[in-house]
Amino acid sequence: MTLPNPVDYAVPAFVALVLIEMFVVRRANRDRYEPRDTLTSLSMGLGSTVAGALTAGAIVLMTNWLHTHRFFDIPYVWWAWPLCFVLDDLNYYLFHRAAHRVRWFWAAHVNHHSSQHYNLSTALRQTWTGIFALGFVFRLWPLLLGFPVPMLLFCGGINLIYQFWIHTEVIGRCPRWIEAVMNTPSHHRVHHAVNPRYLDKNYAGVFIVWDKFFGSFAAERDDEKIRYGLVKQLGSFNLLHSVFHEWIGIARDLVEAPWRAKLMYLVGPPGWSHDGSRETSDMIRARWEERETWRTVKNTTSSLSAADRAAAPLPDGSAKAASTASA
Ligand SMILES: [Zn+2]
Ligand SMILES: [Zn+2]
Repeated sequence: MTLPNPVDYAVPAFVALVLIEMFVVRRANRDRYEPRDTLTSLSMGLGSTVAGALTAGAIVLMTNWLHTHRFFDIPYVWWAWPLCFVLDDLNYYLFHRAAHRVRWFWAAHVNHHSSQHYNLSTALRQTWTGIFALGFVFRLWPLLLGFPVPMLLFCGGINLIYQFWIHTEVIGRCPRWIEAVMNTPSHHRVHHAVNPRYLDKNYAGVFIVWDKFFGSFAAERDDEKIRYGLVKQLGSFNLLHSVFHEWIGIARDLVEAPWRAKLMYLVGPPGWSHDGSRETSDMIRARWEERETWRTVKNTTSSLSAADRAAAPLPDGSAKAASTASA
């Protein structure tokens, strides 16, 4: 059986919806679209499509090879479709989590997060180097179980199409049951946020339940404005810089780092450094949590006596009684 690539059919709808969103937000808030940013997003989407076409032959060879070595035979029966879709979505979650936690995979995925804006055009920021990063190994192994190649690729296409509409600020919250089960604009805004509390959260593709199950879920709050993009913003709309900057960073680190540290610059988390000169998302969040704890203590103690305030812990965990007493 041959099945069409559903993404090919969705592209005109993508373009139409971007234009509609542009029109809608232009009337309410001009900041949401910035021409240079949108142009970069569109170029990255186009480049990703070209990269996909150039590597299609390798994907065909690889998928057919895996299916030839399958352990079981799964025919085109009705139950195979939802099973394949859900399994592929779980694999997407695992891939996406790795893409944020392992620098090698991040180097390809960072492209999707490089915009400081959040609108439907951001969804088109797709990687050009996915096949080089080998992220597809997370998605293709079900072929060994016997799922047909066209079925798996079709499910993957539907997954990608689903993720388009969640890149918008136009939709606030969906009905409660949808928010509970599905990935929504609200959940995915959290994923694109650089606010410390939101870092490395909501990796889901279609079903948000994976994040809830594996402990990576964070709900969007109404009392904190979201900042989008990267912890260290690109500061450039240069297309080639946007696409390849992290790979160039890896190459530079591999050349310059001492031998004992080279491997970690590949498989460690983004932001890891052997001399502590950079920050990972865990370090950023820890620093923020410490500050938040200190702020809470300060607010609580401001209503207490001078003696109580003097005994309150400092952010580094020490007590300030001694320094206050000697002052
Ligand atoms: Zn991501
Ligand atoms: Zn996204």
